[in-house]
Amino acid sequence: MSLAKYFEPGRLALSYELFPPKTAKGEENLYANVQQLMEFSPDFVTCTYGAGGSTQDKTLEIVSEVQRRFEVPVASHLTVVGSTVDQLREYLRRAQLAGVAYIVALRGDPPQGETEFVPTAGGLRYANELVTLIRDEFPDFGVLVAGYPETHREAPSPETDLENLKMKVDAGADVVVTQLFYDNEDYFRFRDRCLERGIEVPIVPGILPITSLPQVERIAALCGSRLPQRLVERLRERDDAAWHFEVGVEWAIEQTRGLIEVGVPGLHFYVLNQSPATLRILRELRAETIRGSSI
Ligand SMILES: Cc1cc2nc3c(=O)[nH]c(=O)nc-3n(C[C@H](O)[C@H](O)[C@H](O)COP(=O)(O)OP(=O)(O)OC[C@H]3O[C@@H](n4cnc5c(N)ncnc54)[C@H](O)[C@@H]3O)c2cc1C
Repeated sequence: MSLAKYFEPGRLALSYELFPPKTAKGEENLYANVQQLMEFSPDFVTCTYGAGGSTQDKTLEIVSEVQRRFEVPVASHLTVVGSTVDQLREYLRRAQLAGVAYIVALRGDPPQGETEFVPTAGGLRYANELVTLIRDEFPDFGVLVAGYPETHREAPSPETDLENLKMKVDAGADVVVTQLFYDNEDYFRFRDRCLERGIEVPIVPGILPITSLPQVERIAALCGSRLPQRLVERLRERDDAAWHFEVGVEWAIEQTRGLIEVGVPGLHFYVLNQSPATLRILRELRAETIRGSSI
């Protein structure tokens, strides 16, 4: 199914990213939160795919159920970690049968406890190879790939990382979704450099609203994302979860407002199975109706 319709000029696409919960309680909590988030009629909802293949089935189960309950198009993330090409094909076949419209095609991180990505025998090495597999054999899927405003941590230079991103786009990716970032200048620079390199697909900013200081420090370190000094200082003013939530939401509102004002093709919220922060941000921005972009 085509992704292009969400990214027509003047339109602001909206998507949410979930992860597969480990317990039945976590799963019910996820659906309750997605129900709340439906207030903003997202264009599609995605679910991550765990390293080492540990949540393969769960990912498909979650996206199928989200699609069934909320009648919203869904995307399954898919990584090449731990799978042969035949296993990737099998997953794609099952996803197609389940009615999944889009695939977020990724290399993936090494399994927990390992520091270096090691390709599986009979498997793939880079995300661009997965994009090629999908385009050749499952052409009906819309394909999204990851982009890194602050450069992927394994890349020798920003230029090389961009060349590698271009390979994914040339292989047929429709949309780039960025790693989380907290300084819009990083996104704007990245978007301009993508354009200079001839990467012309929509570059959708990924937004992770901060809801706790320890959590964001861990995630930012994991993703190689910089936390601006001004943000860290403000968060550290009080050692209090409610304060961190407020500061995080305020920052995300300011950040998202800045992105919409300058013009972005869409917003991808890393909602992490929780709705309150994203709802606060979207309600605030809807009230403002920035630049004619309606949320
Ligand atoms: C939006 C988004 C969603 C994500 N979802 C998940 C998820 O569901 N599950 C999960 O485990 N992880 C997920 N990740 C994390 C991601 O898997 C890691 O960042 C991983 O380290 C790189 O994946 P990639 O698809 O960007 O890899 P690639 O695009 O393959 O890049 C990996 C590294 O190799 C280099 N490279 C790429 N292609 C080539 C090539 N052909 N030749 C030489 N070098 C090359 C790149 O510059 C980069 O340094 C997500 C990230 C983002 C931004």
